Amino acid sequence: MRVAGATDLPDGTVVAVDAATGAVTVDPDAALRAALADRAAVDRELAADTAPGGTADGRPVMLLANIGTAEDAERVALPGVEGVGLFRTEVLFLGRATAPGVDEQAETYARALRAFGDRKVVVRTLDAGADKPLAFATQPDEENPALGVRGYRLVRTLPDLLDTQLAALARAQEATGTTPWVMAPMIATPAEARAFAQAARAHGIATVGVMVEVPAAALRAREILAEVDFVSLGTNDLAQYTMATDRLRGELADLLDPWQPAVLDLVAATARAGVELGKPVGVCGESAADPLMALVLAGLGITSLSMSAGALPAVRHLLRRHSVDTCRQAADRALAAGSAEEAREAVLALVDPTLVAALAL
Ligand code: PEP
Ligand code: MG
Repeated sequence: MRVAGATDLPDGTVVAVDAATGAVTVDPDAALRAALADRAAVDRELAADTAPGGTADGRPVMLLANIGTAEDAERVALPGVEGVGLFRTEVLFLGRATAPGVDEQAETYARALRAFGDRKVVVRTLDAGADKPLAFATQPDEENPALGVRGYRLVRTLPDLLDTQLAALARAQEATGTTPWVMAPMIATPAEARAFAQAARAHGIATVGVMVEVPAAALRAREILAEVDFVSLGTNDLAQYTMATDRLRGELADLLDPWQPAVLDLVAATARAGVELGKPVGVCGESAADPLMALVLAGLGITSLSMSAGALPAVRHLLRRHSVDTCRQAADRALAAGSAEEAREAVLALVDPTLVAALAL
């Protein structure tokens, strides 16, 4: 987070940081201190609840954590975290002049898998390019890197990268006796999904999936799902590509909003394909961490939500207080809305005001 002027503050200045909203307040007054202390107390109470995720009437919605390193895995493998829904493996490659070798990769993946034991761990293969530039994988002459050779597309220019990573994952799988789910980022066509699934299965990976973060993949979710065992919606990139809005431009945040009806339409189309084919469809973009959005996603038939571990308690709490029927109503309302604000307001109106206040929704 960039905080203008933060380095000019004298030592000892009291600063209130609201991690949920990103608001930073210098010298907070008594009212703000009290409100944040109340919120912290509610957070502690919610964190004590470690029951599996699901609706009030018992429809399971797995609640998973996003991680970037083996250390993250060891830190967040707590009761109440049902597994990992997104292991961003590119973190291991960042700041390197060359890709880590198969031994180093296998060791890191094995550590993360071991931390979660029997719990589900979804590993994403390297997602380099655009907002995640890597010295050895970035095309120097790309004018639009977000639309360029990034994510799974690197297989066109550097096929050994994926091959080495899949070999390392297979080795980690064998060493730990676990069965990681493995998925590829930035898939645009069923043919790409098929090619990735073939490559992963050839290495002995049993459960293979792809991310849906390109509108073309959402529109063809049935055909994509026919090739793989599961998909996971990357709503950060899906919003970027649906709304033609660079995710790094803060001043366009209103367009990037995952509540945008056009983004919700694509999420709904993907979820529908999963329900029809009886295959898991998760969400691992930031929108999964929004408790209100979780109601919509559960109503659409999403089977798992993956987010930063700190966001899990509030999502668990709100989900468990609403039935599948209410979640479906939330989804219908959001899809019928004319704008992102209207969609959010329409869902908020379904929630008991005491819960709205307790969770600061
Ligand atoms: C996404 O695009 O929503 C996603 C989860 O992947 P990343 O944020 O790493 O691009
Ligand atoms: Mg992405």
